[in-house]
Amino acid sequence: MSDTETLKTEIKKLSARSATAKMNLHDSAEDLPTNWQSVPAVAQETHDAFAALDAARSEGRRGRGGLTLIGRNPAMAFTTRDGRAWIPDFLVAIDETTCIGCGRCYKVCSRDVMHLFGVGDGNLLLGKIEEDEDDDFDGELVRKVMVVDNAGACIGCGACARVCPKNCQTHVPADRIAA
Ligand code: SF4
Ligand code: SF4
Repeated sequence: MSDTETLKTEIKKLSARSATAKMNLHDSAEDLPTNWQSVPAVAQETHDAFAALDAARSEGRRGRGGLTLIGRNPAMAFTTRDGRAWIPDFLVAIDETTCIGCGRCYKVCSRDVMHLFGVGDGNLLLGKIEEDEDDDFDGELVRKVMVVDNAGACIGCGACARVCPKNCQTHVPADRIAA
């Protein structure tokens, strides 16, 4: 099976998983206060299912880019200092068709994971815009987009997702990315 077919099959499975998770979350809410204890687990599964589906669709748009999604990997689940469960949510992609290049994500990121790039005619990526420089790429600059060019440095804090006004970022839980 080709990579594309494998990805299509994966997206179908993730769609089914997301639909089931959504129904379970709905049922869980309807049942309240019965089984209130199960709500966090059902909500977490719903989050994970949609995050995985979003990531797979993003891969479909961009090509796999070396990212391999896997089943749960307990070795990538961590705890906070007081013992609460913590799974980093890594930034893996930014949709260049919806990003407006506002720079908010860059400003809140402490890890130098993404950078502003210039885009020319035909969505051609012209190159990285160096800090404090207003490079117009010899008049070819049409717009700016944020590009994830240092993904391996991400610690999955989620700060960038909270400030993005266009919801154009894809994050994947750490325990779903192969080492
Ligand atoms: S999740 Fe945190 S570390 Fe990763 S890119 Fe976003 S702000 Fe930076
Ligand atoms: S915050 Fe969102 S819209 Fe703004 S540059 Fe970052 S990804 Fe693009």
